[in-house]
Amino acid sequence: MDRYAVFGNPVAHSKSPLIHAAFAAQTGQALRYEAILAPVDGFAGALDAFRQAGGRGANVTVPFKLEAHALADHLTPRARAAGAVNTLRFDADGTLGDNTDGAGLVRDLQANLGFALHGARVLLLGAGGAARGAVLPLLECAPASLVIANRSPAKAEALVAHFATAAAQCELRACAFAALDGQGFDLVINATAASLEGSAPEVPASAYRELSLAYDMMYGRGDTAFLAQLRALGVPRLADGLGMLVEQAAESFMLWRGVRPSTAPVLATLRAHIDGHSG
Ligand code: NDP
Repeated sequence: MDRYAVFGNPVAHSKSPLIHAAFAAQTGQALRYEAILAPVDGFAGALDAFRQAGGRGANVTVPFKLEAHALADHLTPRARAAGAVNTLRFDADGTLGDNTDGAGLVRDLQANLGFALHGARVLLLGAGGAARGAVLPLLECAPASLVIANRSPAKAEALVAHFATAAAQCELRACAFAALDGQGFDLVINATAASLEGSAPEVPASAYRELSLAYDMMYGRGDTAFLAQLRALGVPRLADGLGMLVEQAAESFMLWRGVRPSTAPVLATLRAHIDGHSG
């Protein structure tokens, strides 16, 4: 039976084994998918051992995405743009590195949430790994504008400089949080790690007044501090990153097996599981 795995540290919390088992059952693919805890300084060795034992591919999560990027023999354009790899496929001519996070986000926004990115004014908060992986897939949907704002503004400026040539007709610019005061957006995506600390980015509330959708990449039980703030401000639609998680997994599955699974039933099951454990 073909073997796949997610490598991380920690990794016990990962929902990827559940998601891929559901995809395999649904599409009739014979595969086994496990979670592997790699030592922080031993990712390359753990990956190599898995490959030698017959592994066909892997997902990679914190803190190994940059190392996976460096280890891959070939990169997809979106992995090269993201500077990080979350999906590996072991081929006869070497290891292919891909990054499916940004495509997962875009698919969740457009297919699941029905938000049209084309022509939209988009505010992306954060300039870390998740934000960087999202920029190219967002630009490919031709928004009217993409503003990247970060607590440390120099990192947002560096991202804008890096993606300037890919912006085409889209207005791509960096902005400090305070300078967002009074600007209008249709969509805000929180790609900061503030939610992990139970806080929200310190963005002036006036930047949120024209929103039709607020999206937090973080997922879990109930509202994050960011979503709670935007709910209180009356933003009409809110979403967490659970759909992004399932959609990036579907992109990985497609790369490995050549079949696109249906994500809706898997997302519904995961959502019910999480809601059932809240409160
Ligand atoms: P990184 O550590 O690479 O980046 C962290 C970013 O958050 C930086 O821009 C940092 O700003 C900013 N930040 C951290 N704390 C605060 C704060 N208190 N206020 C404002 N900004 C802050 O993290 P990742 O990019 O890997 O992850 C970001 C989020 O995305 C996490 O919540 C993660 O769970 C989520 N994620 C979700 C996925 C999904 O499938 N749903 C996939 C990947 C990530 P500065 O530069 O100033 O330090």
